[in-house]
Amino acid sequence: MGEKRTIKSINPATGELLNEVEAMSKKDIRSTVSAAQEASQSWGALPVKTRCDYIKRVGEILSIDAGEIAETIHLEVGKPVTEALICEISLITDFLYYLSVKAPGILADRRVPIHLAGVMKEAKMVYQPLGVVTIISPWNFPFFLSMGNIIYPLLAGDTVLYKPSSQTTLTGKKIEQLFKKADLPEGVFNLIICPGSLAGQELVKPPVKHVVFTGSTEAGREVALRAAEHFIPVDLELGGKDAALVFDDVDIDFAASGIVYGAMLNCGQICASIERCYVQENIFDEFVDKVVNKVKALKVGTAENRKNYDIGPLVSEEQLQIVKEQVDDAIAQGAKALAGGKQIDGPGYFFQPTVLVDVKQDMRIMQDETFGPVLPIMAFHDEEEAIKLANDSRYGLTASVWTNDKRRYEEVARRLEAGGISQFDHMFTGSFIELPWQGVKESGMGYTHTLEGLRKFTFGKPLLADRQPYLGKLTRPYWYPYSSILAKSVHTGSDFLASLTKTKTRLCK
Ligand code: NAD
Repeated sequence: MGEKRTIKSINPATGELLNEVEAMSKKDIRSTVSAAQEASQSWGALPVKTRCDYIKRVGEILSIDAGEIAETIHLEVGKPVTEALICEISLITDFLYYLSVKAPGILADRRVPIHLAGVMKEAKMVYQPLGVVTIISPWNFPFFLSMGNIIYPLLAGDTVLYKPSSQTTLTGKKIEQLFKKADLPEGVFNLIICPGSLAGQELVKPPVKHVVFTGSTEAGREVALRAAEHFIPVDLELGGKDAALVFDDVDIDFAASGIVYGAMLNCGQICASIERCYVQENIFDEFVDKVVNKVKALKVGTAENRKNYDIGPLVSEEQLQIVKEQVDDAIAQGAKALAGGKQIDGPGYFFQPTVLVDVKQDMRIMQDETFGPVLPIMAFHDEEEAIKLANDSRYGLTASVWTNDKRRYEEVARRLEAGGISQFDHMFTGSFIELPWQGVKESGMGYTHTLEGLRKFTFGKPLLADRQPYLGKLTRPYWYPYSSILAKSVHTGSDFLASLTKTKTRLCK
């Protein structure tokens, strides 16, 4: 008999139990997967426009339920309600609307001009639904990172198995309600509540046709290995250790505000938080002073201050310990905390917003993902050194370059090893649906977002037909039997093509 397991989520601001649900058993999951596979037949057969109407309806319901969902995220993750509304809900409202307007065009059959034999043949691409797609999400943006991935396969005609983080099952339930209220047919959207390891075993194998995993590099590696066993394509959005480079031509106060925001947003618990700040040496002291003052002015949302605050708690005791260990390790090796540096006493998992200087590139705080409200700052001499320091990481999610000089911005940005670069804002590429969200090195594989990204959740099949029906009856000269005349004419034909290529190359120069 399978043992019953429960999944608990804890309010990180108080340490109290928030929600306890029974985890799905292997048997429950398997029957949900079968239902999803069955539902994919009729969902995939609907016109794209009809699926878009469903998703638009989800958007309308979201605008009514926004406050309630933001409150749930606030309770489960600890972030301010305003932040949940800005960074999670408003972005998804835009994604839902924009993608459902664009999807019919992107998923429509597409003519492909073929230059060889184009007189005889005409080609087109048709985009057919895959079937069942798995989406596995983390807790730090439980709504944005889930919905932003779920709507792609749904629009493309696939059914979805959605596994939220165990910390955010209430937000997962809210997402399920959105689809229920929009009357999506049974089996199209499927919430799976279970431990991560079971999701790995049951949701990363046939009949699943594509997996989108967002989470830690360690779990991502396991998912990728399982997916490889079954040749299932997988997109991995993983951890980060983002660098921000601040040059001496900036408005120092402006840059300090932006860097503090990029480091402290969501209590620093973002894959693309600024976790390393490199500042040109001649503005270092002034910049650090400004940053320290701004960080000290941040309001932390402890038990006495749960309504009007900037920074919430860390998500768990475990995460609090990681942050403490990394900060203590840096200080033991000579780093100085000019702001914060310690856990905040009282209930919940709070850590003081922290600024560290005198850090060294080989410290854990500069190499390992911290996922906390900690900003280590180091000086650099020139562009070359700044790029070298930024690229000295096993991660490569995003980076930002703070300079007024557009030429310098472009030159540095092109040389940074990261999935996306912004000027005067950090991690901003993730807010625009047209841009790919992706990491290099241990930050990920594949990409999410973009309009063309919809096609990834289909099978793009080329259909090649004869232009004129009567050509179909003509025997092809390249069919059997082979002859010396055929060999000669192929030779002549190749020479002719080569000469055309040369002429075209010359003309194109
Ligand atoms: P996590 O890897 O512990 O969990 C992420 C999800 O994967 C959860 O739903 C979890 O239950 C599930 N999971 C865990 N082990 C699994 C396995 N073996 N097989 C299948 N699923 C498994 O990560 P987390 O603590 O929820 O989130 C924090 C991490 O996620 C950080 O490293 C952060 O950088 C990363 N992250 C990356 C991005 C990005 O876009 N690159 C975005 C957000 C978070």
